[in-house]
Amino acid sequence: MRTYKALLRTGTQDLREAGIEDAGHEVRRIMMAASGLSRTGLISVEMDEVPNQVADRFAGMLRKRQARQPLQHILGTTEFYGLELLCDARALIPRPDSEVVVEAALHLIPEGEAMTVADLGTGSGCLLAAILANRPKVRGIGVEASPEAASLARENLSRLGLEDRASVFEGSWADWQDWSSAGLVISNPPYIASAEIASLSPEVRTHDPMAALDGGDDGLFAYREIIKLASGNLKPGAWLVFEIGYDQKEAVSGLLEAAEFSEFGSSKDLGGNDRAVWGRKPEK
Ligand code: GLN
Repeated sequence: MRTYKALLRTGTQDLREAGIEDAGHEVRRIMMAASGLSRTGLISVEMDEVPNQVADRFAGMLRKRQARQPLQHILGTTEFYGLELLCDARALIPRPDSEVVVEAALHLIPEGEAMTVADLGTGSGCLLAAILANRPKVRGIGVEASPEAASLARENLSRLGLEDRASVFEGSWADWQDWSSAGLVISNPPYIASAEIASLSPEVRTHDPMAALDGGDDGLFAYREIIKLASGNLKPGAWLVFEIGYDQKEAVSGLLEAAEFSEFGSSKDLGGNDRAVWGRKPEK
């Protein structure tokens, strides 16, 4: 008899052999998705026989994970800042690290304040959705050059009931003309140095869109572009909040300083790495 327990055990071995660290946890998530059972439901049926249909679905998903497809793509959703977001190859997978960037932005937006927040390179829409969900008076604009990512952002915003307060501008940040409306601009731009891309995990390297990762020779290309645009177009008193790579705090703060931003701040992610940097356009 093929029990849930037996399939979970062999599945865990298979994933471990494929080089996946958190194999036990992941295999349970896959079985939950394949069976429709909750975490506790799965525990209570451990010694039962797995129906064929469930076993087939489980095997199919497991094969994809063995081939190092990201778990989030296989499940089709991921959780970010307490929200369930649709997740597929159209945009960068929302990372837990990015939650501290949301946290930083929320600290800069007083509760009850009506302002517009723009998210440059919104991707899945995760940063924007998390801000809007936590600041009911805020309106949001997601700027996204990739039509595929823009469609995913729209789906996520509407699925979360945020579409009345959000719009997605499909075009590059250089083409976006609405800077003067924004009280805060947030961005998680591509920031991996081109030469580093090859050393990323297969999940990232082959399944996240390259345009969301590749930050040019020194990884700072997008920051230079955005800071230049913000310096010319952002309204006085508005904030600019960035996600950064673990070793980019000095460089990005330096770029903000050179562009005469002020009131700098930074924060770390749960792993203790610098992850967010922000500054304010001075009042004239
Ligand atoms: N944090 C992502 C990674 O290291 C990169 C995201 C980005 O370039 N914006 O995989």
